[in-house]
Amino acid sequence: MDISEYKKLLSEIIKLKSISTDSQYKDDVLKTAEWIKQTLVGYGFEAQTITEGKMNPYVVASYKVSDDAETVLIYGHYDVQPASKEDGWSSDPFELTERKGKLIARGAIDNKGQFMVHLYTIGKLIKQGKLKYNVKFLIEGNEETGNTEIGDFIAKNLDLLAADYVMVSDGETTADRPTIDVGFRGNVSLTVTYRTAKNNLHSGIYGGAAPSAPMELAKLITKIYNDKNQVSYQSFYNGVAEVTQEELENNKSIPFDMSSFTNQTGIRQLKTEEGIDFFTQTGLRPMITVSGIQSGYTGEGYSNIVPGTAFAKINIRLVANQDPEKVIQDFTKFVEDNTPEYVDWDIESESPCKAIKMDTSSAKFQEVKELAEKAYGDKVLFKYVGGSIPVINDFKEKMGQETISVSMAGEDCNMHGIDENFSIDLLEKGLKFSELFFSK
Ligand SMILES: [Zn+2]
Repeated sequence: MDISEYKKLLSEIIKLKSISTDSQYKDDVLKTAEWIKQTLVGYGFEAQTITEGKMNPYVVASYKVSDDAETVLIYGHYDVQPASKEDGWSSDPFELTERKGKLIARGAIDNKGQFMVHLYTIGKLIKQGKLKYNVKFLIEGNEETGNTEIGDFIAKNLDLLAADYVMVSDGETTADRPTIDVGFRGNVSLTVTYRTAKNNLHSGIYGGAAPSAPMELAKLITKIYNDKNQVSYQSFYNGVAEVTQEELENNKSIPFDMSSFTNQTGIRQLKTEEGIDFFTQTGLRPMITVSGIQSGYTGEGYSNIVPGTAFAKINIRLVANQDPEKVIQDFTKFVEDNTPEYVDWDIESESPCKAIKMDTSSAKFQEVKELAEKAYGDKVLFKYVGGSIPVINDFKEKMGQETISVSMAGEDCNMHGIDENFSIDLLEKGLKFSELFFSK
């Protein structure tokens, strides 16, 4: 496959250091949005950059084949994580470099390299008169900083963005098989505060008689799980979507090797529920974890105190049918039931996000699956992603649209790390899939 045109385009956009996490790159951020707009205009798109709120410009573009054709909205992001040669990159992160069958650069897959697959393919199909769909693009510049305004942006621009399908390519394949993300867990973040005294107390004077906030908090935390690796209070699982036989089989077909997993992570034993594999546990089962604890003195030397306050940051991952508000209520009830009367406590929570599960039975979904199998020459793997992509929730909640999420990067793509890369083999398969999907 001749990918020289694609590489040329990608290397141009890679050079623009659109690092959204650092304001000194604002100029490059603006140039990148402009570059995408101009490239799309060159293909015949009506394209614009829109600046709203505090965020970097959104590139919104539209190309119409005909009134009868269905419309696909492609979402992507042009901002990237920081990168510099000093971090240990083997070449300049902002010069696209080809080595050992890989294209290496910051943004090679997250997300420039992936949305450019569709952008390049569509440009080519327009020239050949073979484009099947009306196509829209929404490419944003704040994904890496967590765009808190994109939901509002979508809600405000429903007509501009209206489409029959939304497509996203912003993740990793699994086991080099064509991978469609069919579920994302939801997310709830909470802070639990325990207070056992007005302030920290001298351990020599009060120790042994005064309750200790971190010890009380530790007692609470140990009660969250039972010895079967399940959350101890039943209400947590009320209404949780059952894992189907089909889902279990799909997940068990994903290769998982414990010893290489141990090498990679340092984890020696999985704490899954009985009969549940790693992928089902992380993709289709809810969980609660402590993401941080703070109390007392942790600096140099020792401060001999009985701490009067302690905090724990709690992260809850939700699955389909769990209502985040109900989950927060139930957790609050658990804290209330398990906190002794001499401890003052409170809970704060941040705006939660629901889990999403795609309807894999729709005709379009089946079509995508078949085309991906054709392009990759292998069976499609449905991936239940443990994390969340909030914008996919926004498409569902604001537009009523389910997103087709076809991931193209390899598992060793090193997203956010050094030598981020797009395997040329997977790139060619991605290009083939994009072409099969978008051509008449
Ligand atoms: Zn990223």
